[in-house]
Parts: sequence; structure tokens; C-alpha cells
Amino acid sequence: MKVLVIGGGIIGGAVAWRLAMEGSAVTIFERGRIGLEASWAGAGMIAPQAEAHGPGPLLDICLRGREAFDRNVDQLREKSGVDPEYDRAGILYVALDNSEKTELEARALWQRQAGLGDEVEELDGDQARLIEPMLSPAVVYALHLPTNRRTENRKLTQAYINAAIRAGAELREGVRVSEIVAHNTRASGVRLDDGSIHEADVIVNAAGAWAGEIRGLEADRVSIRPIRGQIVCFQGRPAMIGPAIFSLRGYLVPRRDGRLLAGSTMEDVGFDKQVTMAGMGRIVDGANALIPQLSSIAFREAWAGFRPATHDLLPVLGPSPSLPNVLYAAGHFRSGILLSALTGEVIADLVKGRQPSLDLTPFSAARFTQQGVAR
Ligand SMILES: Cc1cc2nc3c(=O)[nH]c(=O)nc-3n(C[C@H](O)[C@H](O)[C@H](O)COP(=O)(O)OP(=O)(O)OC[C@H]3O[C@@H](n4cnc5c(N)ncnc54)[C@H](O)[C@@H]3O)c2cc1C
Repeated sequence: MKVLVIGGGIIGGAVAWRLAMEGSAVTIFERGRIGLEASWAGAGMIAPQAEAHGPGPLLDICLRGREAFDRNVDQLREKSGVDPEYDRAGILYVALDNSEKTELEARALWQRQAGLGDEVEELDGDQARLIEPMLSPAVVYALHLPTNRRTENRKLTQAYINAAIRAGAELREGVRVSEIVAHNTRASGVRLDDGSIHEADVIVNAAGAWAGEIRGLEADRVSIRPIRGQIVCFQGRPAMIGPAIFSLRGYLVPRRDGRLLAGSTMEDVGFDKQVTMAGMGRIVDGANALIPQLSSIAFREAWAGFRPATHDLLPVLGPSPSLPNVLYAAGHFRSGILLSALTGEVIADLVKGRQPSLDLTPFSAARFTQQGVAR
């Protein structure tokens, strides 16, 4: 089975690893260098209970995504030789005033009703500061999410790609796929920018925010747009803060080397990757409100990346309605790091003709051609 993967981000890497491990002949085509787009820009939280806004398909897939992460991470570290720094220090989702507290109480309620009672703990401000002493005295309430985690997503992406190559996958960088070549209702391969054609049995579209731009799939009407997210990175000390801190004003994610990532913005501005004064200002204000002592910490760098977003903010996983041997693995929006291992598993299931362990109906590409979809 010959599989071509379009896109060398975390999703393309995870898919390539799974398929190569199962014996497929995999080639990854990456138009730039691997892992330098959203998968490089992300904050790396494995945070199903902070990301979902209620019970439903997003919560379900994110919880399954974390399970897949736990199932795969040790093997990935061993097979790749790269430590993705998977830290289990949990997340504190904090409220700085009573209206934020009311919102978080509602979140705790629906999570308990969804059967997550053991994984969400309600704390008052003092209890939250016992877990993270640097938290602002203004924190009045917090949700402790001990099973929500974090990883160093840049290393994780490298790990997937390394493991895929060690399992036999071929990586081609600096190679842009311009279109899918098809005969009747079957894709026969891809055409690259230089005009060359590469044949395949199966093609996986893992082109992130650009996944809707591959020519030859227009009939699917899959629409994915970039939502810019900016991050401001400070240089702290290793283990300066324990859990990642989440709030309605922004978040703080520590790295093992002492970097502290403050995020983020959600901006519908097209493929414009600038870091702006307004964006940085909002992020810095949010970070300062969470931990006032940060005002003396050294600024290190800032960056932006594009979250791949669909109209309903759910990923697109599974066959193209017009060319069923093309599989979408795209549109992961704010949770592509969290969903990487699971995406690798379900795409491998589909390629190998197995029933995926997860009902993929809510994530089907067919939803884009159904009437009444607002874009
Ligand atoms: C600021 C920010 C914070 C985030 N925080 C988190 C978080 O805490 N947790 C989480 O789970 N997720 C987070 N995300 C989301 C996550 O980063 C993305 O969902 C994920 O990285 C998407 O991975 P991808 O492989 O689909 O896309 P990308 O990493 O963008 O990779 C797509 C690749 O395809 C290549 N490509 C595109 N077109 C072509 C073509 N025609 N031919 C060949 N190659 C092509 C691109 O060059 C790119 O390398 C965050 C994102 C941002 C921006």
C-alpha cells in the first residue's frame, strides 16, 4: 500500500508514523521544512476539559485524544529517540472575579454531569494558591484539572517525524503538492509544483490551514480558514510554576527549560503571521493578571501561527466524498497537538479497512456539502 501524506506538521507526522509502523510505504510531502507552522507555534496543552465548551463531539474526541496520547507517548519516545516532554502537572483554570467564577462553576457542573466528576476539582482562591503559590491574590476560584496535561509540541512533532522515518517513511521537504490527480472517482496520485506526478493508492490531506487549497478536491467544498494565534514567550526558571494556568483572559504554559509561554489571540485575518502590538498587549495584560510577579520576568520572543479552523470548529477526519481514497486529516483548530495520536490511529484504521474506535460521523467531510451549512 503506497500512501502519500500532504503536510509535514504534527498531524502528517502522526499519520505517517502509524502507517509506516503498520507496513505502508509512506512518503510525506512538505512544502517548507517539517513542523514549522501551527505545530511549531502551539502551546502544547493536552486540555480536553479546558477546550470543550460543553458535552458533545468536541469533548468526546478530545477525551479520546488524551487517552490515545497516554497510550502512545512512551512508545513514541522510545521509537523516535526524542523526548516530547509530556508533563502531567495538570491545569488550573482560574477566575479573577465573580462573573468569571460563575462561568467556571457552570463548566464544573456540565463536566460533572458528563461523568468527569473525578477529573474536575473546585477550589477557592487560597486552595488554588496552595497548588500554585505564584498565582495572583485576586484569584477567587479555580478548577483543578489534574488529568489535563502539556507537551513540548515542537519536540513532539520531531518525534512523530523521526519515528515515521525510522519505521521506513520517506520525507521530502521543499516540495509543494499543487493538486490531486484523479481518474473518474479515484485519485491516482498528486502533482507537485514542478509538474511531476507521484502515484499512490491512498493520499492523506494533512495540510493544516492550507488543506482546503489543494486543487482537485473542490467538489468536497471543504473549507478551512486560518485563525491567527500569537504567543509571547518569557524566560523564567525551570519549574518556576507547576501546572499550566488557564483563564478567560489567556493562559500560561511552562516549558522544562524555564520558558513560559503566554497566549493567545484568536484572529480571523487570513494568512498574515505578524505579531502585533495589540495582540501582545492583550496577552501580556492577561499574563500579568494571572501572575503579577511576571512583570519583572525577561521577554524572550514572540510568534504567531495559524490554527486550521472549519465552520463548526470540528476537525475533518475521513474520506473525501468525491475521491474516497483521499483522506482528510485536517481542521484540528485549537486541539491538533492533543488530537495528534488519535488522528494517526483513526486514519490508519481507515487506510487498513478497520472500523475506527471512534464514530467519525460528526467529523465527516460530507458535512460540508450538506445543505444549510453556513461558512
Ligand atoms: C498560538 C497557538 C496555540 C495553540 N495551542 C494548542 C494547544 O495548547 N494544544 C493543542 O492541542 N493545539 C494547540 N494549537 C493548535 C495546533 O497547533 C494545531 O491544531 C496543529 O498544530 C495543526 O497541525 P497540522 O499538522 O494540521 O498543521 P501544521 O502544523 O500547520 O502543518 C501543516 C503542514 O502542511 C504543509 N503544507 C501546506 N500545504 C501544503 C502543500 N500544498 N504541499 C505540501 N505541504 C503543505 C505546511 O507547510 C505545514 O508544515 C495551537 C495553535 C496556535 C496557533
